[in-house]
Amino acid sequence: MKQFIVVGLGRFGTSVAKTLAENGHDVLAIDCDPEKVQAISSDVTHAVEADATDEETLKTLGVRNFDVAIISIGDNVSANILCTLILKELNLPYVIVKAPDTLHGKVLTKVGADRVVYPERDMGARIAQNLISSNVLDYIEFAPEYGVIEILASGKMIGKTLKELELRANFDVNVMAIKRGEQLYISPGANDKILEGDKLVLMGKNENLEKMKNFGN
Ligand code: ADP
Repeated sequence: MKQFIVVGLGRFGTSVAKTLAENGHDVLAIDCDPEKVQAISSDVTHAVEADATDEETLKTLGVRNFDVAIISIGDNVSANILCTLILKELNLPYVIVKAPDTLHGKVLTKVGADRVVYPERDMGARIAQNLISSNVLDYIEFAPEYGVIEILASGKMIGKTLKELELRANFDVNVMAIKRGEQLYISPGANDKILEGDKLVLMGKNENLEKMKNFGN
């Protein structure tokens, strides 16, 4: 089990610290705000009120014995930099820092950060990708919990027969029709092959249709 230090207990730091502790790791959580420290104290191994830019304080806390530090002191650029510098000088093997932007991130790398993360930027990009790559063309609900969706055949499906895809066995959904250009093949058979550009009309429980949305992406 690794030992972690989490510096800065805003939303990000708190979430990191709690998740590590829930997974059985030793976590030392540090913040200069006593309320933040109090709020997390029962969830982590140690929670300490301290200024993370003070080298003597960090030494006293025995930070050199830890494996990984995650620093997330909000938008306080100089505090993030100072804390990174001190922890690396104390030979902490792996220091991860949350940065608000790439310029700030570059400085953090220069002073020794092993990894810089940009959670807001990355999450925004992931959500946008997810919206763009969704291959669902349409959805009709015909009973509570059941629906019909039309999806564009994805890479994994092309060239396979319905039998090979085993959508019924794997996802418990039925292929009601295949739309190919102007043609509509109703109740396709097990040996019918999916071609590029095909649209599949699927029926099933909403939760199973949901899984189909990302199939093959
Ligand atoms: P988030 O975006 O993750 O919610 P916040 O900006 O809300 O981040 O949180 C940053 C945290 O860092 C605050 O809880 C603040 O008290 C703490 N903090 C700021 N400066 C220091 C410091 N020098 N030492 C320790 N903790 C600090």
